[in-house]
Amino acid sequence: MANDCIFCRIAAGDLPADTVLETDELLAFRDVAPQAPVHVLVIPRRHVRSVGTLAPEDEALAGRLLLAARSVAEDEGLLESGFRVVANTGGDGGQSVDHLHLHVLGGRSLSWPPG
Ligand code: AMP
Repeated sequence: MANDCIFCRIAAGDLPADTVLETDELLAFRDVAPQAPVHVLVIPRRHVRSVGTLAPEDEALAGRLLLAARSVAEDEGLLESGFRVVANTGGDGGQSVDHLHLHVLGGRSLSWPPG
């Protein structure tokens, strides 16, 4: 755990979160500043910085993160209406928290491209 990492602290239970899914390996919780009616973040408990630092040995973790995003979308009733999964990565990608997370967004029509 990185002590200065807000998502590590949420994963450790040191900071509160509105959790919607939890496994030994992953956590999903509602974004504190939602950009859509449904806005959930899916994170690995282990500190991984971003998609940019995923390694070949993270293959299973990456797959389970994506499946967890799908599961969140199903639980939130988004499978039929559609939804978006986003992994902002690095500075130009708009990543503000340096702990890998997938945004699951839905519940309204989402514009493309994003701003
Ligand atoms: P990104 O800009 O892709 O790194 O996304 C980080 C997201 O984390 C933003 O959408 C924030 O609103 C969200 N966020 C930051 N702190 C918290 C928190 N304590 N609980 C839930 N979401 C948070």
